[in-house]
Amino acid sequence: MEKQKRFFLTEKEIPTEWYNIVADMKNKPLPMINPQTKQPITVEEMTGLFNRACSEQELNQTDAWIEIPEEVRDLYKSYRSTPLVRAYGLEKALDTPAHIYFKNESVSPVGSHKLNSALAQAYYCKKEGVTNITTETGAGQWGAALSYAAKAFGLELAVFMVKVSYNQKPYRRSIMQTFGAQVIASPSMSTKAGRKIITDAPNYQGSLGTAISEAVELAMQTPNCKYVLGSVLNHVTLHQTVIGLEAEKQMAMAGEYPDMVIACFGGGSNFGGLSFPFMRHNLLDGKKTEFIAAEPSSCPKLTRGVFQYDFGDEAGYTPMIPMFTLGHNFAPAHIHAGGLRYHGAGSIVSQLIKDGMMHGEDIPQLESFQAAELFARTEGIIPAPESAHAIAATIRAAKQCREAGQSKTILFNLSGHGLIDMTAYDQYLAGDLTNYVLPDEVIKENVSTLEKLV
Ligand SMILES: *Cc1c(COP(=O)(O)O)cnc(C)c1O
Repeated sequence: MEKQKRFFLTEKEIPTEWYNIVADMKNKPLPMINPQTKQPITVEEMTGLFNRACSEQELNQTDAWIEIPEEVRDLYKSYRSTPLVRAYGLEKALDTPAHIYFKNESVSPVGSHKLNSALAQAYYCKKEGVTNITTETGAGQWGAALSYAAKAFGLELAVFMVKVSYNQKPYRRSIMQTFGAQVIASPSMSTKAGRKIITDAPNYQGSLGTAISEAVELAMQTPNCKYVLGSVLNHVTLHQTVIGLEAEKQMAMAGEYPDMVIACFGGGSNFGGLSFPFMRHNLLDGKKTEFIAAEPSSCPKLTRGVFQYDFGDEAGYTPMIPMFTLGHNFAPAHIHAGGLRYHGAGSIVSQLIKDGMMHGEDIPQLESFQAAELFARTEGIIPAPESAHAIAATIRAAKQCREAGQSKTILFNLSGHGLIDMTAYDQYLAGDLTNYVLPDEVIKENVSTLEKLV
């Protein structure tokens, strides 16, 4: 039989609803808490910062299915469905009996899965009469996606970009500017949060937590302006479930169902996006799929973080989120997977880890680049350094299959391509990259400053 390599859906088969896993979870995540009142956050409180539709989605624990607005679906059609691909080349190189599939989100116009939520959030802001939005970006993928989405819906966007990435990845900045966004290196002198950090530590290279503080502050001070977040929160992951819902249909076309689902983990949006639709069948139908979130050893909140209420940002402007965290004052080492540098795991995934529904696996930086290199040479796609962590975890699993003489079906998410990350590849090829493992003392010290709410 001829082997089929790629599986696509027709426009009509693109999902019409997103999947809200919280509705099907027996143990709901603990609520986010307002740090002033110490009470659970309400939709009203959230709308001070976010648009109303996303605030409602964020706290929705009852509706498993939420309609994708037609305007958003229309824009999804310009790049969805994304292909599900059987990685025959990688399988052969690994000499593994495992069947390896990947969902290729790198084909989106901006090169990553981030557009799935950017379009939705920009749409809701526009519909509610918002004119300006602010956000942060680490590696620049989210900023690029939101810049295009903002333009598509006629919104003005200001992006705070983590300084180390601003300097390492100048082309991401150009991409955002090409789409018409204003880009500011963070920490900056344009906000109180930024000025404080620069004064305390003039050489600080920034973190996602700091950039979030700056974006939140600007949104709160600007009329008709909302803040938009690219990961971590429930509504962002909700929008990303279009990935897994498509993959479920495409795996069926391939005549398979995954034994393992693997994705890299920054704030959890591509992981949850791919895995929650499949995890639904573990929750409801007794399936036994294994779910693995691959994180860098230098930012190991899933495997070594502490479950605690913590802020989503450095300055403490956001609600407190119950999650596995390295502490909101975590200053990550200068790793190249900028999108994986976030300090916390979000509330849904943290609950799922506690319930044993999934687990984290940490990947040293060099192993991730070795995996990326092998994938590039066998499948012809240069993966984003973030996605390379999922590839590394997949390769580990496929090698175990080889050793055990056991065939498993593995599905991983190729969350983005790495064509704008070639500086990192240059350093890898030149032998200049190193491994960095976050010391226990640093985690302990960061977390010791948190107020104990659980
Ligand atoms: C942002 C990003 C990530 C990490 O974010 P998640 O919310 O954890 O998905 C991973 N891969 C790529 C390509 C990204 O741009």
